[in-house]
Amino acid sequence: MFEVVVYFCSMANTEDQFKRVISHAKEYGYVFQSSDIYDGLSAVYDYAQNGVELKKNIRDYWWKAMVQLNDNIVGIDSAIFMHPTTWKASGHVDAFNDPLIDNKDSKKRYRADVLVEDYCLKIEAKINKEVLKATKRFGENFNKEEFLATNQRVLAYQEKINSILKRLGQSLEKEDLHDVKQLIEELDISDPLSGSKNWTDVKQFNLMFGTKLGASSDSAMDLFLRPETAQGIFVNFSNIQKTGRMKIPFGIAQTGKAFRNEIVARQFIFRMREFEQMEMQFFIKPGTQQHWYQYWKEARMKWHLSLGMQPENYRFHDHEKLAHYADAASDIEFDFPFGFKELEGIHSRTDFDLKAHEEFSGKKLQFFDHEENKSYVPYVLETSIGLDRMFLAVFSKALQVEELENNTTRTVLKLPAVLAPTKAAVFPLIKRDGLPELARGIVDELKWDFNVIYDEKDAVGKRYRRQDAVGTPFCITVDHETLENNTVTIRQRDSMSQKRVNVKDLKAIISEEVDVKHWLKKI
Ligand code: ATP
Repeated sequence: MFEVVVYFCSMANTEDQFKRVISHAKEYGYVFQSSDIYDGLSAVYDYAQNGVELKKNIRDYWWKAMVQLNDNIVGIDSAIFMHPTTWKASGHVDAFNDPLIDNKDSKKRYRADVLVEDYCLKIEAKINKEVLKATKRFGENFNKEEFLATNQRVLAYQEKINSILKRLGQSLEKEDLHDVKQLIEELDISDPLSGSKNWTDVKQFNLMFGTKLGASSDSAMDLFLRPETAQGIFVNFSNIQKTGRMKIPFGIAQTGKAFRNEIVARQFIFRMREFEQMEMQFFIKPGTQQHWYQYWKEARMKWHLSLGMQPENYRFHDHEKLAHYADAASDIEFDFPFGFKELEGIHSRTDFDLKAHEEFSGKKLQFFDHEENKSYVPYVLETSIGLDRMFLAVFSKALQVEELENNTTRTVLKLPAVLAPTKAAVFPLIKRDGLPELARGIVDELKWDFNVIYDEKDAVGKRYRRQDAVGTPFCITVDHETLENNTVTIRQRDSMSQKRVNVKDLKAIISEEVDVKHWLKKI
């Protein structure tokens, strides 16, 4: 039952890893392509038996941190369908566009800004290569920060990235689509699939999905599927403030589906057409937005770090180009298998949304401040994270291949235990002598507190590997000694260490590792 110790662990940040992530997610019941038997639907995915649990655990982890632990934040679950004027007021009808460009030869459509950003990622890869070379050359004496700040080649690459992104930001801000095309041509960017450089002009494309409400064609009302959950919060601002007797500053949080007709919907669950958001709008006194912007940037980064993934996986990207509603914005970017990309947005939305809804609805959306003895339209600080992107972040970092001392490898999904779909698997060593009954008894006891499973198929070593690959933090084995003294072996997924414990202590041992409190207390 004993295993050899790990001496080396690797999983390169490459295309191969990304392919492995996608196939592992399918093979182990995490994510399937939607309508798989009909060859799938592009950029739409279904969460399978393990995926749905991981997703629920991420959602709960967010909800607990935002709503349960903050006495001035409450939740809401607003409808996906909203009055169509909502989207006029929010600016989505007029300004929720992406710049698209078609390749005339391949007939493929791309987001013009993404083509330019991907070009910059290639330059960034060159910087990483220089760092790697220098790490090898200087060994332990290597000082990465100093190298990045002084190496001439790296500085030139960085300078190039900065100037390209600056120009892109400015052109998009001014809606100068002609210059975006010119930039693509100057950088000599080709179609990533065909290599052709025969581009059309850049055009704007609205991302909202339209639908109809009502049976008869003349009375039917044109609706949109919501492209973000935030507006459901804004239109309920007064209802919640009054019924909840909320005082500024206070927040309203919501998780739920959003829909976007994305032009480039690739990269698995990173960019989907139907996805889930976890958003919180924090209503504040005008003039305090800088303070709360810094506060929520820090708070959200701490939430990410509490999950134990290395700090190098995260970075802030402060926006040059601001959306029409924002006076400051930053992304928390994560090092996905295809490089650093946006995981969460923190936006200082000013009073844009509430003012616009006041104007379009004719209803007051204000707060009476007793201290100041006056009413005002609050400012808003938003935190907005994609649940599916968070899933991909956690899942892709967790998937590792470890080389063991006896020249074998194991595939292990090192999910933070608090998020793992199944917390423990219980095995009888063999299928007789009353061991299966004892093991099932343990499952029946533990299942009131945790997701646990019973497995008796194959040798124990094989069962361990199966649970490693699916991400189960604990394996509990019942053997003949259990019959004598009620003790079992408990094996830890990451260290593979095993110890003998009393059955009555199992609940406490597992709780210690998987309890939300234990993780969130680190914040
Ligand atoms: P991107 O620049 O990647 O298109 P965005 O800036 O449009 O994202 P926001 O409108 O700020 O995204 O949405 C908030 C969050 O919702 C994002 O940080 C991301 O995690 C998630 N999100 C947005 N679009 C998608 C999508 N198509 N699929 C999955 N998650 C998404």
